[in-house]
Amino acid sequence: MNVLVINCGSSSLKYQVIHSDSEEVLAKGICERIGIDGRLVYQPKDGEKEITEASMPTHTEAVRMVLDALVNPKTGVLESLNAIDAVGHRLVHGGEKFASSTLLNEQVIQAVEECSDLAPLHNPANLIGVRACQEVLPNVPMVGVFDTAFHQTMPQEAYLYGIPYSYYETYKVRKYGFHGTSHSYVSKRAAEILGRPYEQLKTIVCHLGNGASVCAVKNGRSVDTSMGLSPLEGLIMGTRSGDIDPSAVEFLAKKEGLTMEGIMNVLNKESGVYGLSGLSSDFRDLDQASTEGNARAKIAVDAFCYRTAKYIGAYAAAMNGVDAICFTAGVGENDGKVRAKVCSYLGYLGITLDEKANQARGEEIRLSTPDSSVTVLLVPTNEELAICRETVAMIQHN
Ligand code: ADP
Repeated sequence: MNVLVINCGSSSLKYQVIHSDSEEVLAKGICERIGIDGRLVYQPKDGEKEITEASMPTHTEAVRMVLDALVNPKTGVLESLNAIDAVGHRLVHGGEKFASSTLLNEQVIQAVEECSDLAPLHNPANLIGVRACQEVLPNVPMVGVFDTAFHQTMPQEAYLYGIPYSYYETYKVRKYGFHGTSHSYVSKRAAEILGRPYEQLKTIVCHLGNGASVCAVKNGRSVDTSMGLSPLEGLIMGTRSGDIDPSAVEFLAKKEGLTMEGIMNVLNKESGVYGLSGLSSDFRDLDQASTEGNARAKIAVDAFCYRTAKYIGAYAAAMNGVDAICFTAGVGENDGKVRAKVCSYLGYLGITLDEKANQARGEEIRLSTPDSSVTVLLVPTNEELAICRETVAMIQHN
């Protein structure tokens, strides 16, 4: 099957076409600045990357342009649109309604819409992508793959906040967790790499990108994760604060004369390693500045690593042990210094890192020494491939 994988944001749409048998990416790219002016990036598997500036007033035009590029007689990778067998959509928030991927029909789309107040920035944008694809490919089956679904196995003691229970009952205020597609993919790969049954392994996955989260996967199920009701909780991230005393919100709002919206903007977009360093959210910039003696760049990365190590400790306790710790996503896959710093806190678990292996970037590799009691792995994530697999599985089971 050829699966079109779509990850739609408010002004951008990332896409890949994956052949599900060979798992080969036939083409990929992104539409940017939708509703502003419009730019299509198209990269076929054996060809040159093309960048086209073109008007995209809505996501429907963006999808049309992607499809035109895919079937272009010169540079396209498909003979016709009939060669698209299914579309897999990344959907951010499935609330408590969706514990797995699902075929998208009107009833399901409405249920996803009802989750929108839990993810007002993401779900409406994701659904615009679904609607645009429905318009242009009306007869192609579509599947929704939720960031939250993998974490629906968390027990109540892990997902409840210590607030009046009625808020959970009435509004479903609780921890949901995100990056589920990535945590699921990486923890499964870890079991395969180790040659151990997934159902008998305790894994901690550190998805460290611009958004970052840690997940405890016990016997193939997510039992805890660091993001919460929204992706703001947990680790210090690129621009997000992660955990913070809620009283600081009131204190700062008063001192700075900020509205609730204003303070949430600070916590989401002006905090994290960017806010701490006052410099950048990109770990490459922070590393360079730190090497040049910038103390705030150094403390920003140190705080990021310390918080990550604290969560690993908490999740080792939550699972009563850990067999494997995996690093993934932009920072986790590329930044050996961050990995080494995080692992420097974990000597008590019997972890020793192989310094040479830890120089690796973006490849599956064992980072710990053979005598390390816990195996540390670098496992590049592949959310698009995971969405493609889920899509095929859903279609074959229905
Ligand atoms: P997201 O999907 O959340 O936008 P990614 O997983 O793509 O984020 O990670 C992006 C981040 O990865 C960048 O902001 C940067 O900090 C980090 N990164 C990417 N390449 C490198 C590198 N070579 N060294 C260190 N950090 C890197």
